[in-house]
Amino acid sequence: MRTPFAQQTRYGLTGLLAAALLVSCTNSPKPEPSSAATTSTPSSTPSSTPASATPTPSPSPSASPSLPPRPATSPSASTEPPPPAPPTSRPTTPKPSTTPKPPPPPGTSSSVVRSTASGGRTVALTFDDGPGAATGQVLDLLSRYGARATFCVTGLNATAYPAVVQRIRAEGHRLCDHSVSHPQPFAALSHHQQAYEIVAAKDMIVKAGGAGTKVPWFRAPGGAFTPDNQMVAAANGLRPLGWSVDPRDWSRPGVAAIVGTVQRDLRPGGVVLLHDAGGDRSQTVTALRQLLPWLAAQGYTFDFPAV
Ligand SMILES: [Zn+2]
Repeated sequence: MRTPFAQQTRYGLTGLLAAALLVSCTNSPKPEPSSAATTSTPSSTPSSTPASATPTPSPSPSASPSLPPRPATSPSASTEPPPPAPPTSRPTTPKPSTTPKPPPPPGTSSSVVRSTASGGRTVALTFDDGPGAATGQVLDLLSRYGARATFCVTGLNATAYPAVVQRIRAEGHRLCDHSVSHPQPFAALSHHQQAYEIVAAKDMIVKAGGAGTKVPWFRAPGGAFTPDNQMVAAANGLRPLGWSVDPRDWSRPGVAAIVGTVQRDLRPGGVVLLHDAGGDRSQTVTALRQLLPWLAAQGYTFDFPAV
């Protein structure tokens, strides 16, 4: 008689203990008060089926700003690059299971173009690294000869000299994305850093130029194109822009050398690489003063690069 009673109490005690343990275990991970312990049990496996529940409060990356942070607070036109933005979360979702990356806009090729749009006896003059101290002189010369050119500007310099960017537009020239801060070697940057340099620069140029500013090309600093940065450019509507004639005017080889190289190497449909910033560009300006009438005398007309 005593033994069954004792067993009963023992079972009863262990049962109570087990029940208490169960309750405490199932309760512990839940933030709700105890009353919700039983009701929340069926739905207490939150992440097993994320696809079915549409309004899941998953950590969606869409809340993040669409652009990486830009160094807008330091619009100094100096050549020293600010530290590139860390590889912040791009709109591209890290999960491979979700929707694939948006395809590049049709019509924007990722191959490097080195020829004019029209071909024939045309030339595309391109000026890199500005706007800078010599850009006004270059624009004056181009205007005098009715020439059109393409300016590959950096985001920082465009931000520092928006009026010059607007003058470039107003006088019929075109703009090209030359990265935010011209870091070199460009191809040594990470994918995310290169993407930031390309995408943020385009936005900075458009902001400087005003509504309707078009930026059809991207020229990698130092011409350091890779299949990866070419794809990034094309995905953002920027055709990679190379050149066919490089007189290395940035190295100040002398006016005669700059003029001579262009006269020797230029073929119809060529793209000439020159610089209007990044140092003393007086040789470039003087060479341009000689080259513009020479080009006209040779029957060249001024064109833009192909897109
Ligand atoms: Zn450059």
